[in-house]
Amino acid sequence: MSTPVRAVLALGSNLGERSTTLSEAVTELTSEPAVRMCRVSDIVQTKPVGGPADQPDFLNLVLEVETTLAPLQLLHHCQAVEQRHHRIREVRWGPRTLDVDIITYGDATSDDETLTLPHPRAAERAFVLQPWAWMDPEARLGGDRVADLAARAADRDGLSVYPTDGDG
Ligand code: ATP
Ligand code: MG
Ligand code: MG
Repeated sequence: MSTPVRAVLALGSNLGERSTTLSEAVTELTSEPAVRMCRVSDIVQTKPVGGPADQPDFLNLVLEVETTLAPLQLLHHCQAVEQRHHRIREVRWGPRTLDVDIITYGDATSDDETLTLPHPRAAERAFVLQPWAWMDPEARLGGDRVADLAARAADRDGLSVYPTDGDG
């Protein structure tokens, strides 16, 4: 058995029953025996970044897991959970029922376009950085404090905490 590695996943949804989709996805991601839940962030509501201008707001959260899956196995697991939610992938950065991205996998770095680590756009995305910093105030990404990166992110003004008791 390989040594478990800490990984941070970012989940987003802007179609359908968004908060239900996110909580089901957290359950599905961590019901695989090789993936253990460590921490999950609050949900934030965010304005879409990129893609079509008129798409609905996103709900986003960050999940920290400990896994014995190899990086590509973890990616395939994330993609299988996306598929379970009938993800539509027609327009780049367009609306989707569920997006699951791997933000970090231990200290691994990779330029492979199939799995780039850390996620190449995470360091500028408040919708990833802010829930991550709230979940783990000590978190670091590429040598920077995640909380500092969140404070500098251009999209931080479009972000608010989403109440956990409903899908408004
Ligand atoms: P973004 O990557 O900007 O958040 P997206 O999540 O909408 O955009 P997807 O359509 O979900 O993009 O993924 C496109 C491809 O990105 C996937 O086929 C996957 O192989 C690749 N990819 C590369 N690095 C990662 C990563 N760290 N996490 C998830 N997918 C990745
Ligand atoms: Mg994404
Ligand atoms: Mg993705």
